[in-house]
Amino acid sequence: MRTPIVAGNWKMNTTLADASALARAVADGVNGIDGVTTVVCPPSVSLVPVSMALSGSNVFIGAQDVSAEPQGAHTGELSADMLSGLCTYVIIGHSERRSMYGEDDFTTAAKTTTALAAGLRPIVCVGESLDVRESGDANAFVASQVNGSLAGIADISQVAIAYEPVWAIGTGRAASPEIAQEMASTIRSAVVSMYSDKAADGVPVLYGGSVNADNAASYASAADVDGALVGGAALDGNAFPGIVKAFAASA
Ligand code: PEP
Repeated sequence: MRTPIVAGNWKMNTTLADASALARAVADGVNGIDGVTTVVCPPSVSLVPVSMALSGSNVFIGAQDVSAEPQGAHTGELSADMLSGLCTYVIIGHSERRSMYGEDDFTTAAKTTTALAAGLRPIVCVGESLDVRESGDANAFVASQVNGSLAGIADISQVAIAYEPVWAIGTGRAASPEIAQEMASTIRSAVVSMYSDKAADGVPVLYGGSVNADNAASYASAADVDGALVGGAALDGNAFPGIVKAFAASA
């Protein structure tokens, strides 16, 4: 039985004050909801105020990225050891990192390895572009991303995978629940090939791409979809708890 994870990626939004207020709204909104792991991923400068705002709540904190390097002369980077004192989860390989900052499966695997060594729980993102989907190669492409992004990682018991089709992120053009289910199943099959049936049964596979409080229930009822990675709606202190509630209702 996999516990659903609903993670909010705040990206480069919120001031320090906004972040604390949003964290408090999320904590209030999900108070008393069981059976779902709720995660917020604020900008790194807000990890400390957000952790104070969430003290005593059932909300976990995640980072939006991590360096693949353990320490040293890497201006602007944050190491896994720095983050592990502040948060539990970390998003790795988000399509914005891949498309804007030149990250690939190799980088994603390196960051995932470093994060796991520091005790963080990576949320590893994969997903095809519109061109790939329209060419009919989405399943093979995403399976290959899973292989590359987890290369060299022996134990994925602390890893979650987010299927985030690039064409659905921030566009309002959410993937249908049928596509989300099919791709989550493809990801699980890739995990069977790389690891084992047991590993595939245990790995949470999230869907991300224009999830909101109105459509969340349709993903929550998909057998292989174990939660959501949420961008825009995660900035709304009412909508985000609504998504968590949708997954709790079907857990
Ligand atoms: C995301 O950035 O991971 C995302 C899914 O964004 P949105 O929910 O806004 O599509």
